[in-house]
Formats: sequence, structure tokens, C-alpha cells
Amino acid sequence: MNPNWSQGDIPINSKRLHYTRTGEATGECADDIRPQWHPRVKKELVRRLYENDARGLRDEDLIARVGFALLLRCQSILIATEAHAGRATCPRCEAIIPHHSQPDEALVCARCGWQTTWAAYHRSYRDRQLFGGGAVDAFRNYAEIYPQARAARERMLLIDQLLHAFHTQLTRDTSRPAACNLIAGKSSDILVFLDRLTFGEGSAPELQQAHAAWQATAMESDWMRNVLRESRRRRAGREGD
Ligand SMILES: [Zn+2]
Repeated sequence: MNPNWSQGDIPINSKRLHYTRTGEATGECADDIRPQWHPRVKKELVRRLYENDARGLRDEDLIARVGFALLLRCQSILIATEAHAGRATCPRCEAIIPHHSQPDEALVCARCGWQTTWAAYHRSYRDRQLFGGGAVDAFRNYAEIYPQARAARERMLLIDQLLHAFHTQLTRDTSRPAACNLIAGKSSDILVFLDRLTFGEGSAPELQQAHAAWQATAMESDWMRNVLRESRRRRAGREGD
């Protein structure tokens, strides 16, 4: 992140794909500049966000911190998704490099001359939950709207909307929470984590309604219903001891 930018001061339309010199002299990428991707957000931060909200406590710094981390993550997802569709972004100058997804194909930036192979570029984001898939509209929507949101309440609602989105797929059973791309952890753990988010008297009614709708949608899918039922059963068992 540019050190001159604070969390409350987000340049609109900045794609902000970062590059670093890794010091790994692999020769895969020109000048050892390679694509960098923002990580998923830690569960603990999201948990605190909802616990505060349930108590009617509006921690603006925490909301801004989580909201900004999600913004960077969504931007990384959008850039990786575009790269997967044949439009890689140069990590040095952010120009688009068209390609045909052939492993040995040379990706050469027409603007600055940076280059690598498609195999090396692909490896930089593979297995990192960076492909937008059926939730790409939710990620794009957040990346476009969040930077314009200034009020903490508005930001919180946008965060909540994003975290409660699903990947829309051809069959319900291949669906999964969009949060699997956004929050660190295994898909089943994230599902249970979202199911157990804290709500209370202080929670905004919109948040509670969105959560109930999310739970209803999750229960329509076999794998999500199985995971949630098992976790709720175990929890009820522990509480009954
Ligand atoms: Zn370039």
C-alpha cells in the first residue's frame, strides 16, 4: 500500500496492483518483479466487528480497517479474474497484457517491457481463492461503491452485504459463500463462522435480515446444510452439558 494513503482516504479507480522485488533470483519474471495479491481478512477482525455492532458500539476505525482490507482483496480478485480470462495486468505499470493462456506463452508488457510466461503468472495466484467465479459481480460492486462510502454505517452495510453474498452457480449444490474468497480459512469453517456471527439489540435490522436470508439460502444447498446442521448439533450438545 502506498504509505501516503490512509484507510479513510481511498483513491477511486486505483487498481493498485503492487509489486515488490522479492529477491528470489528465479528469473521467472523480468527484474524479479512479480504480481502481488492481497491476502484474505482474518476471522478475528470480522468477529469483533459484529460483536461491537451487536452491542450498539460503532468502532469507526475497525470498520474502516476491515472495509479497506476487503477493498484491496476485491481488487486483487478482480485483477486475477481478468488475468484468467486473457487480460493479465502488468505488475510494474498496470498495463493490460492480452494472452491465450498457453503455459509457455511469453507475456510481454507493450508499455514497459516487463515480461514473464503465462505459467509463472498463473502460478502467482493459483490456489489462493482469487478467482471471482459466480460472485464476481459482488466483488466488483463492492470495489466500485465502497470507496465512495464515507459514513461508518454505510460502510458497515456494504461490508455486510459483501460478506453475505454467494457464488451463483448452475446448481445450488456447487454454490458457496463469497466470503470463502475474502476471509482466511477452509470453506466449511468460514460457513460455520458466518452462521455464528453475533447479533444483538444494537445490530442494525438490515444486518439481521440479511443474515436470516443468508442462512435460508445456505440451507438450500446439500453440503452447506450438512455442515451447518452438524455444527449446530455439536454446539447445542456442548451447551446442554
Ligand atoms: Zn508494464
